[in-house]
Formats: sequence, C-alpha cells, structure tokens
Amino acid sequence: MRNFKSIDRMVFGRGTVAKISEIITKQKSKENDFAVYLIDDFFENKNLVSTLNVEGKDKYIFISTIDEPTTELIDQLTLKIRSYYGFLPVALVGVGGGSVMDVCKATSLMLTNEGKAHEYQGLDLIRNKGVYSIVVPTISGTGAEVSMTAVLTGPTKKLGIKCDFTVPDQVILDANLIDDVPNPQRFYTGMDCYIHGVEALTGTWRNPMGDSFGEKSLELCKEVFLNKNISRADADEKLMVASYMGGLSLTYSQVGVCHALSYGLSYVLHLHHGIANCIAFNYLQKYYPWGVEEFHQMLDIHNIVLPKDVCKNLSDSEINLMVETAYALDHMWDHAFGKDWKTKISKQEIKELYLKM
Ligand code: NAD
Ligand code: ZN
Repeated sequence: MRNFKSIDRMVFGRGTVAKISEIITKQKSKENDFAVYLIDDFFENKNLVSTLNVEGKDKYIFISTIDEPTTELIDQLTLKIRSYYGFLPVALVGVGGGSVMDVCKATSLMLTNEGKAHEYQGLDLIRNKGVYSIVVPTISGTGAEVSMTAVLTGPTKKLGIKCDFTVPDQVILDANLIDDVPNPQRFYTGMDCYIHGVEALTGTWRNPMGDSFGEKSLELCKEVFLNKNISRADADEKLMVASYMGGLSLTYSQVGVCHALSYGLSYVLHLHHGIANCIAFNYLQKYYPWGVEEFHQMLDIHNIVLPKDVCKNLSDSEINLMVETAYALDHMWDHAFGKDWKTKISKQEIKELYLKM
C-alpha cells in the first residue's frame, strides 16, 4: 500500500497571483519571519515581480533556466538562503515553469535535510518535511505543480527527489501568467502533458484513479492542440488544468517508453524535457500508435518543425551512455511492458530508436 499525499491548497483563477502576499502572510507569525521567492529570470524587469509584492524581510532570487536544474544549483541555493538571516524562511515560492518549480520543491527539502541534494535522488530518501512551498506555474504542461518529484540532473544521473514531502503545499494557477508563452516552447511543454496522458493510459500500472485524471487531462490537451478554433485565452485555462490533472495521473500511474528515452536525450545532449519528449515520441508509433498519430496532427496544426538527426554525430560511448541512462529507468519500462520488460525491449532496440532521432 502507498498512502499518497496530495497538494494541500490550490487557487485557480485569472489574477489570483496578486493575492500571494495574503497567502504568505498566513505563514508568518513572528516579526522576523520571511519568505524567499525563486523566480524564472525571464521575469527580471517584468511587471510580474511588482505584482508579487515582495515585502519586508522577504528575498527574491532570479533563476536561470538555460540548463535544467542541477543538484549543484540546489546546494548553492540552500547555502545562500540559510545564510540570509541564520534561520530558515517560513515559505519558499517558485515562480516559473517545471524547472523553477522543481528548484523550489528541492530547495525547500534541502533546507531541512542534512547533506547534498544528489544524496537524495531516488525514492523516499528524504527524512524531514521541507519549508512551506508555494508554486506558481508560468508555463503549463509538466505537472510539476502537483507531482511528488523534483527532477534534478546530478553528477551521475538525471533523477527526481521523489517522496510525499516533495509535493508542494500550495499552488496558484493563474492563466494570465501563461498567456504570452511563445511557440515552440508552449508546444513542447504542452506536449509533455499530452505525452503524460498517453503514457499513463498505456501500460501495466493502470488503475481507475490514474485513468480518470489521465483521460480528463488528455481530453483537455486535445481541445487545446487539435481544435483550430479555440481562443488562446480559453486554451490557456484548459492547458493549466490539463497539466494539473496530468501530474495527478502520474501519481497513480507512470510514464513509459517516451520518458525513458527522453531522459537519455536530456542527460547526454542537455536537451530540455519538453523538446526531448517530442523528439523521442515522434518515432514511437510502434508503442503508442494513436498517440503518435494525433501528435503528428498537432505538429502540423501548430507549424512545429522538430530538430532532426540529433544523435547523428554522437560517439559510441555517448550513445551507449544514453542507452544506459534510459535502460536504468526500470519503473518506466515496467509500466510500459510489465515486470518481464527486459524480454520485451533490448538495449539494441533502444539504440536503434536513438539512431533514428
Ligand atoms: P522550463 O521551466 O524549463 O522553461 C522553459 C522556458 O520557458 C524557459 O526559457 C523559461 O524562461 C520560459 N518561460 C517560462 N515562463 C514563461 C512565460 N510566461 N513566458 C515566456 N517564457 C516563459 O520549462 P518546462 O517545460 O515547464 O519545465 C521543464 C523542466 O520540468 C525540466 O527540468 C523537467 O525535468 C521538469 N519536469 C518536472 C516534472 C515533475 O513532475 N517534477 C515533470 C516533467 C518535467
Ligand atoms: Zn514529462
């Protein structure tokens, strides 16, 4: 039995991000209490920062998303935040996409747990509850706003700090924040959500709870990306909910072949998660026939041209590292093919898939 932890509180509605200081004030009980905002550096010099109303002893740090979050970044942030006043903040806020939300979730945990972030990459390794965490997505699709993992690239692997404590305490879903996300980034991150739905609904770990969240998420994704007549405003609200539902579907189900391959691509080529998923999914008709067919329609509708031949110039050792990275994700293959997955797909087949990309 696993006794799943859900997100404690959720605000949904346009304009609600302006209420964040009210939410944070509720966490403050002493004069010196403070919050730390981790904000995607895309918003440096943008209006959003004043809307957040950072006040008093509160601090903010802009986070670069050029690279996906690393364990090293989390260790640096943990040291910096501990050194501000010599005591911990009462709340940590992550404003951004999956990268910054994961940075917020992981840093919140490392502030209350000894050691280095890479020591906690894996399942249920964290001992203490983190600092109160609030996440505010500014781009939708990953489901990081509700999920029980904070995905980090460490010295030896890309793997989440995954446990009940990783689930954020509060999420604010304000679609105003995602209205201006440009393509192709909006598409890539949105497809992460679509692929979560396809993979959650195709595999051996399925159950009615995961299916219900997955089906609704997928239905919303199709409205957003297949309906040519939907307005951007309508689409963005739906995408925000789809991402949330997609994240929940993975609590009860699991991702599969595409995500395993995508982790290999990201680890070796430093490709971001959304685009890496798209590059891999494009060649997975054999495993997800209806999903890949719809995905091709979505590419056409949104005029997205995917990079090609990304593995063409890799050395044997790089390709092999990619294969080993993907092959090590036992839980994803187990969901996709069952306990005897090693009899269903070989390292050679994985290598051939990579060479097509
Ligand atoms: P991201 O957070 O990496 O951001 C992508 C780009 O979008 C960045 O350049 C960012 O500056 C920009 N951006 C963000 N908001 C914007 C806005 N409102 N307008 C314009 N640009 C904006 O992208 P992502 O796809 O949301 O997240 C990917 C990360 O999420 C990866 O690190 C991946 O490993 C992680 N992830 C985590 C989970 C989880 O459950 N924890 C699930 C899937 C992916
Ligand atoms: Zn994903």
